[in-house]
Amino acid sequence: MKTILVTGGCGFIGSNFILNLLQKDSSTHIINIDKLTYAGNLMNLASISNNRYAFVKGDICNKGLIESLFNEYNFQSVVHFAAESHVDRSIDGPDEFIQTNIVGTLNLLEHSRKFVLKSKKKDFKFLHVSTDEVYGSLGDNGKFFENTPYAPSSPYSASKAGSDHLVRAWNKTYDLPILITNCSNNYGPYQFPEKLIPLMIINAMNNKPLPVYGKGANVRDWLYVLDHCEALSTVLDRGEIGQTYNVGGDNEVKNIDVVEAICDILDNLMPKANFESHKELIYFVKDRPGHDFRYAIDASKLKSNLGWAPKESFESGLEKTIQWYINNVDWWSTILDNTYRQERLGVV
Ligand code: NAD
Repeated sequence: MKTILVTGGCGFIGSNFILNLLQKDSSTHIINIDKLTYAGNLMNLASISNNRYAFVKGDICNKGLIESLFNEYNFQSVVHFAAESHVDRSIDGPDEFIQTNIVGTLNLLEHSRKFVLKSKKKDFKFLHVSTDEVYGSLGDNGKFFENTPYAPSSPYSASKAGSDHLVRAWNKTYDLPILITNCSNNYGPYQFPEKLIPLMIINAMNNKPLPVYGKGANVRDWLYVLDHCEALSTVLDRGEIGQTYNVGGDNEVKNIDVVEAICDILDNLMPKANFESHKELIYFVKDRPGHDFRYAIDASKLKSNLGWAPKESFESGLEKTIQWYINNVDWWSTILDNTYRQERLGVV
């Protein structure tokens, strides 16, 4: 039995990762530490009924707590998701982003380093889950490679860039066995409804307006969350220590085209009573300050060196995602009732 410390496992990607790993690998035991911020949701993991999983409510910045976990468990690896993750919130309040994303990562690195020294564990791995936003913005052409210089634009991406640098430094300076992944935009089940795709699905289902930033011309590369989770398992199993792997879906789509694709699928799955298209709900709002124009990922290193490939196309993944939000109204309506008012954030 190998024990993995997952941080931020009650969030969107972390919960998909835990559900996926417990299902496919019966030799894995997971300890999930999560602070349960607005983005953490115990319901995401409510279906787990086996004793290979334990939840610890806590902050990754808490030195005593992290130390006690490393004293209690003989961790094989750390898979580090915990972060403040929403660019708009980082514009309104960057402090939490610096605290969790940088100071919290430092705390995990330090305790991992001490654990390896003390336990002499040779095959321990620290997998840091990061974003393509650290590379900044592209024009009409080009892609991000693993050696693209960092040029973050938002407090969120700057804090993730800072944490990536720390992780790399702990490998170079202290020989901590680390791996880093930089992934493009994820979508899928359990994504908090402040992010573009769930926000648009839920608003369209409720016949509410669909606000699109600027002219909707910004381009993102989209990856279905379970394809990301498979990439993370692959890197954890077979990645070369010290290396960075870009993860992406080769699905570059303009924001307005994402929203129109959602409307098309909903027109089919949930036609409006008057048979008007959901596209009639689209309107344009003031752009996000410092909004990166385009992200595009070159994931060929992960594909050719480790044999990973995404299973979902953007069309198939989006249809599955919309179906999930249709089937799980309780999940998102509880969030809308309790914690999230869908207010516009991040306008300076
Ligand atoms: P999320 O916001 O849905 O979840 C973050 C989780 O971390 C929440 O459960 C939250 O409660 C927890 N958390 C926050 N602060 C914490 C703290 N101080 N201590 C313990 N737990 C804390 O985020 P996500 O979309 O699942 O992203 C997970 C990771 O993947 C992040 O590091 C993010 O930067 C990275 N990432 C996300 C995307 C994406 O498209 N969502 C793409 C690439 C990389």
